Amino acid sequence: MKRRRFLEHVGWTGAGVAYAMTAGGIARAASVPGDPYFVQISDSHIGFKLAANPDVAGTLQRAVEAINALPRTPQFVIHTGDVTHLAKAEQFDTAKHILSGLRAPLIVLPGEHDVLGGTPAAFLSAFPPQSGSQGWFSWEALGVHYVALVNVFDYERMGVLGNDQLAWLERDLAPLPASRPVVVFAHVPLYALYPAWGWTTADGARALALLARFDAVTVLNGHIHQVIEHAEGNIRFASADATAYPQPAPGTAAQPGPKTLPPDQLLRAIGYRTVELDAGTAAIRDVTFG
Ligand SMILES: [Zn+2]
Ligand SMILES: [Zn+2]
Repeated sequence: MKRRRFLEHVGWTGAGVAYAMTAGGIARAASVPGDPYFVQISDSHIGFKLAANPDVAGTLQRAVEAINALPRTPQFVIHTGDVTHLAKAEQFDTAKHILSGLRAPLIVLPGEHDVLGGTPAAFLSAFPPQSGSQGWFSWEALGVHYVALVNVFDYERMGVLGNDQLAWLERDLAPLPASRPVVVFAHVPLYALYPAWGWTTADGARALALLARFDAVTVLNGHIHQVIEHAEGNIRFASADATAYPQPAPGTAAQPGPKTLPPDQLLRAIGYRTVELDAGTAAIRDVTFG
C-alpha cells in the first residue's frame, strides 16, 4: 500500500516554525539532546536542466538521503534559498515532494530564483512563513538565537533587506545579552563578498552593525554555490555549496553562472553542511556528494 505523506506546520521550540514531514504521516519536531546541531542545504534550482547538472532533482534527493543517514538526527534542516530555478508551481511541487522525505523538521528561505517576477506569492504559498511574519523570523532553541532573514524580495542586482526588516531585526536583538550565541541565515551574502558580481547585500552593513556587539555570531548563506569563509570581528561568515551546481570562484570568469565540470567532478563540487555549536562556536562541516 502506498504510504501517504502529510505536510503540516508545527510550532517548533517557541517562535520558530518548521515543517515536519515524515513518511508515516505524523508531523513531529525532532527532540534531540546535546549541543545545537543542524544541517544547511541551499540552491537546489529545481527545474534547471543545463549541462552543469541535468538532474538537479536527483542531487537534491541525494542530499535528503545523506542527511537522513547521518548518525545523529539534526534538530532542523534549513534550506537557504533558490529551491527552484524559475519559481514555477510544478518546480515548488517537485521540491516539496523531495524535501518531504527529510526526517528532520525543515525551514525554507527564499532565494531570488524563488521570487522571479518580483512576486513571492508562489514561494510563500509553497512554504508559508511563521504566521504574522513578513517572511523573516527568529526563534530560540537550546540557548541559541536563530534569525532567518530574507534579502531577495527587492532583489535586482544584489541582496536588499529593507527598512522594515532592519527595524524588526533591531527590535528582535535588543533584549538579548551579548553572550547569547546568534546564528543568522540569509540567501545572499550579507557582507561585500564580491560586489562586482552582486554577491553582497546593499544594506547588509546595517544588519552587521546590529550584530557586532555579540560575542559569537555565525552568518550562513547560499546564492554563490561554493564554500567561502570570512570573519569580521566576532561575526563569522560561511557560504554553502549548492545541491545543484557550482559557480566560478569570484573574479575567475567573465560573470557568475553555472559552471560545467566533467561529470565525474560535479558530485565533488555540490553537497550539504552540518553545523554543531559548542558554547556558541560553530563547527561547520561541508560534505560533498563525491
Ligand atoms: Zn542559486
Ligand atoms: Zn541566488
